[in-house]
Amino acid sequence: MDQVIDFFIRLLGTESWPPRWHCGAWTDFHGWLYIISDLGIWGAYFIIPLLIFNFLSKKEGLPLLRVFWLFIAFILFCGLTHFIDAIIFWWPAYRLSALIRFVTAMISWATVFMLIKILPEALKLKTSAEFEAELLRREKIEKEFLEAQALIVNNSKQLELKNKELEQFAFIASHDLQEPVRTVTSLMKILQEETKETLTDEASQYVDLALQTTERMKNLINGLLDYGRIGKDRALSNVDCDELIKSVFEDLQVKIKETNARIEAEKLPEILAYPTELRLLFQNLIVNAIKFMNPGVQPKISIKAVNRIDEWEFKISDNGIGIEDRFKDKIFIIFQRLHSKKAFEGTGIGLAHCKKIIELHGGRIWVESIPNEGSTFFFSIPKLIANGNSNQLHPAH
Ligand code: ADP
Repeated sequence: MDQVIDFFIRLLGTESWPPRWHCGAWTDFHGWLYIISDLGIWGAYFIIPLLIFNFLSKKEGLPLLRVFWLFIAFILFCGLTHFIDAIIFWWPAYRLSALIRFVTAMISWATVFMLIKILPEALKLKTSAEFEAELLRREKIEKEFLEAQALIVNNSKQLELKNKELEQFAFIASHDLQEPVRTVTSLMKILQEETKETLTDEASQYVDLALQTTERMKNLINGLLDYGRIGKDRALSNVDCDELIKSVFEDLQVKIKETNARIEAEKLPEILAYPTELRLLFQNLIVNAIKFMNPGVQPKISIKAVNRIDEWEFKISDNGIGIEDRFKDKIFIIFQRLHSKKAFEGTGIGLAHCKKIIELHGGRIWVESIPNEGSTFFFSIPKLIANGNSNQLHPAH
């Protein structure tokens, strides 16, 4: 221990040894070759870390940065051992020389361990050729992706156009059909009036049937016309669903009383929506919930809204006849009905309307049901609705 303390106290001391020139028999040539070579190595070992440092300061995001720093220290200290070897020819600071060699040894082994440790990581680094190949691969994938995307956009535009054409056709056809149906109905009514006394019972039944059929046709045509109108001249506004539901109940008062239906609605939110369409949606679902009741059972209907992160989810449950699993998608298709009009009056348009209205709001509609126990119709309305007129997003509350 005394030796160690003495070593550090006399670290720069030179009294114990002669300068190296006087130690042994150096010729001038031999001595200077030694000195110049050591200084040359030190000079290079001093400049290399500077160049690495310069590189590090200019190049951002380099991997394995700690290895670079260790290399800088390693090269600097190696250089320092050569520098001290050269000056020892005049200044025999052998203690300082030993200390520098000791530090150099430590740093050298730290570098060895670090290199062993990072070798697997370093092997994963890509060469520039590998980078280029990867880049080319990604460019190819990106190109293919953009082409596929363009194709999808193009196809969906064509689909949209075809849908519009189809809707227009349905609208014009149903509009034009209104007139002949009206005429037939009027003529049948005149016929019924004029032949009241002369027609046989059987013939009179036929006239009644014909009138009922034209009435049904009129309803179908009106339904089609309404379907085509959904979303036309629309404008988003804040809708208080509580108020909206109240006004639907008022309109359905007679039906509710007739069926003795019990309807419970939880507090509903104020949302951004297309008011006329939203009203029609609630009305259709509530009317269905009352209409498709189990015979002899008091209809019980509940209306709820759940606040999800980016949408409102509404549900309208009933204790009616329910729907079999296999029909859960079919019922949303226009004119698709599961019952004869004798069993349940209707046109098969209501749920198609609902689906179209929900799609207009960018939401979803679906049903869960147990036959003979009841159904729950769910629909979601996003809190951000893309307004088709302005292509802007509007926040819903
Ligand atoms: P409509 O009521 O005129 O028949 P909808 O499009 O409203 O037409 O409904 C389509 C079909 O879906 C109905 O005929 C009925 O079979 C079924 N449906 C709709 N709502 C309910 C309900 N709440 N419970 C049971 N079945 C239903």
